[in-house]
This record gives sequence, structure tokens and C-alpha cells, in this order.
Amino acid sequence: MDKIQMKTPLVEMDGDEMTRILWSMIKEELLEPFVDLKTEYYDLGLAHRNATNDQVTVDSANATKKYGVAVKCATITPNAARMDEYQLKEMWKSPNGTIRAMLDGTVFRAPILVKGIEPCVKNWKKPITIARHAYGDVYKAVEMKVPGAGKAELVFTAEDGSERREQIHAFSGAGVLQGQHNLEGSIESFARSCFTYALDVKQDLWFATKDTISKQYDHTFKDIFQEIFEREFKDAFAQAGITYFYTLIDDAVARVMKSEGGYIWACKNYDGDVMSDMISSAFGSLAMMTSVLVSPDGYYEYEAAHGTVQRHYYKHQNGEETSTNSVATIFAWSGALKKRGELDENPALVKFAEKLEAACVKTIEEGKMTKDLALITSIEQPTVLNSQAFIQAIRGTLEEML
Ligand code: NAP
Ligand code: MG
Repeated sequence: MDKIQMKTPLVEMDGDEMTRILWSMIKEELLEPFVDLKTEYYDLGLAHRNATNDQVTVDSANATKKYGVAVKCATITPNAARMDEYQLKEMWKSPNGTIRAMLDGTVFRAPILVKGIEPCVKNWKKPITIARHAYGDVYKAVEMKVPGAGKAELVFTAEDGSERREQIHAFSGAGVLQGQHNLEGSIESFARSCFTYALDVKQDLWFATKDTISKQYDHTFKDIFQEIFEREFKDAFAQAGITYFYTLIDDAVARVMKSEGGYIWACKNYDGDVMSDMISSAFGSLAMMTSVLVSPDGYYEYEAAHGTVQRHYYKHQNGEETSTNSVATIFAWSGALKKRGELDENPALVKFAEKLEAACVKTIEEGKMTKDLALITSIEQPTVLNSQAFIQAIRGTLEEML
């Protein structure tokens, strides 16, 4: 069989620990035998980030701007313990944070549905994708404890020195205060990323805030989404046969629980933090979630939603067997290959990526899975495979399908 050819390279961002082990197994077993894989390789493993003073992370983000599509392995965000473990020069920042800041994107997370791993919410038949705004609100808030009676005010001082004041509260005793902010530019790029992604996957977009209570703050989010939709996306949505739907956040929660899924749910930063954990746990596990960063300029970075699975890696290093689920990392590759194929008008590559995803699903539905899934499946007597045997089982299924 001839290998599938690629036109433009993918930006490949290698990572750390157990996911780095899975990364090379996936390439060897599931990609290189079938595709003449073209990548521009960046080693974001912590040792190399340290050796390059984290320049490699910046270079990989710039390469993503150049080529448009990247695939990223999970990486360690260093803490005090990692300083010793890797003898770091500095406590380097989270690579995801650095890349996100450079590409200015929104992260979309969707569960991978498999028969035998049923969502807890029985009417959810299709995936629900969460799009979380990643700037501001409570995450950049300034807080204060109020010691006793006194007046709190919100003051804005313009560059020309003029002031605007609003009384927050006249305290008669002790209390607490919080000041939040957001930026029109950030909300606009959040909105554009959501509309672009909805068109890309041809699914309806939902957005919700508490604009009835927050008449300035949340209402600004609602207005910006509406304006950008009317001006830039309305016609394309109509052509694609999809809708933009705005409602109050409490109404959205009620509707989500009763829906059958199959849409994108755009959330403000805090709502997205809370709701994505609800959605992912209700659908099964973090190892069965896709995750993609979409920039408003149309750059895509695909990754797994989970971390480097440190505990499994230490077992692996001790020569013990591991049963680590590689599905989310495989879907990062398939997502990136599919997008590369679409952009390059390379249908063979798109088709291969779709078959690879179908092979993962089929393998699990036939009862062959890793331990994390075996614990939650409704399939009777599943075959529990180790990390490598699971990938080899997927290869077997894929070869039958191709
Ligand atoms: P983790 O890698 O998400 O793993 C936490 C636990 O979840 C594992 O111990 C395992 O449970 C289970 N798990 C996660 N992924 C799994 C998979 N694919 N297959 C089977 N089980 C899986 O989080 P962590 O171990 O707390 O974090 C390790 C490192 O990852 C940290 O240094 C953190 O900075 C980094 N991190 C990176 C990213 C990213 O790059 N996107 C995201 C989050 C965290 P059991 O042990 O019970 O089997
Ligand atoms: Mg959270």
C-alpha cells in the first residue's frame, strides 16, 4: 500500500512523561506505517524547555502561526517539586499559557462518544462541546476584606484625569469586596473563535450570561456576540444551516440537561471552568475528551485534555506495566491531520484521520480497552489491555478498515 502524502507539515510539539511515551508509540504504530508524515518537530519536554530557556515554546507557537496547524503532547507545568526533579534554571511558565497568549485563542473541549461508556445524563446522545473564554473576570479580580463600617466606591480615572464614581456599598460593619474586569478586544476574539469553530464543525452555537442582573458587565458580552454575529457570521450560519442561540445562564443549564447534545456551548471564564468539569465527568473521563485551541486568526492547536499522567510514568520507569488510555492523544493527531488535510485539499489525509478515529471507537466497542474505561463500561467482561497492547489493537482494527 502506498503511503498517504502530505503537502504542508504539521507543527509537532512533543511533551513529557507517560504521554511522551504514548506519543512515540502512536507515531510508530498508527501514523508512520500509513502516512508519509511531515512535521516540524519542537521538543517541549521539560528538559529541552529548560535547555533553551523556554525559547522552544515560543518558537513552536510562531511555527503554528506560520503553518496554521499544530499537535501538542501534554507537558509538565513546573512547580517546586519539578525544580529539583529536573534541576531547572527557573520555574518555567505553563507552555499552554504561553502558547495561548501568543495565539489568543479559545479552547474547545468535546467528549468522544463510545457505545458502552454511557453518559450519566441518559438523553445526551451527541457530544456537547464547551468553549471557555480564557481571560479575566474572577481570575483577574482584585479583592479586599473590609474591616468595618465605611464606604466602598468603584472609581475609573481616565487618561485625562477625569473620574467616574459609583458607590458599591455603604458598609455598616465588616465585609468583603471584589473588582473584576474584562476587555472588549478579548471578548471580540472569543466571539469570533466561537462563531468560526461552529461553522467549522457545522453545529449550533449557544451562549449564555446573566445579563438581566449584570446590566453592564455581562450585557457587554451579550452585545458583542450579537454585533459580531450580525455583521460577520449571519449569512454563513444560514448557509450552513446552523443557528446562534443566546439565553440566560440558568435557562441554558436547564436546557442543556434536557437536550440531546450536538452543539457548542460558549461559556464565560468561570462558567466554563465549572461546566466543563460537569460535562466531562458526566460523559465519562478526561481521557475521552478532545481539546483544540482555535485562534481568531484561524490557527489550530490540537491536544489531549488530560495531563502527562505522572503516576503511570513512574510505574513505567520502574518497569511495571501501565494501562494508560491513549485515545485523547490519538484524537489530537487525527484532529490535526484532518484539519491539515482540509486546508491542503488532501481528501486522502482527511479520510485516513476519520478512519483512525473510527478504529479507536470500534476497538473499545469490541470490548478491548484500557483500565480506566474497563472500570466504567457497561460492556460485560471487557479485555483490559496495557498501554502498548491497546495501541496495537487499534492498529489491528485500522488495518481491517483500510
Ligand atoms: P493527569 O496527567 O491528568 O492525571 C491524573 C490522573 O488521572 C492519573 O493519575 C490517572 O488516574 C488519570 N488519567 C489521566 N489521564 C489518563 C489517561 N490518559 N489514561 C488513564 N488514566 C488517566 O494529571 P497529573 O498527573 O496530576 O498531572 C501530571 C502533569 O501534567 C503535571 O505536571 C501537570 O502540570 C501536567 N498537566 C498538563 C496538561 C497539558 O499539558 N495539557 C494538562 C493538565 C496537567 P489513576 O492514577 O487513578 O490511574
Ligand atoms: Mg477547573
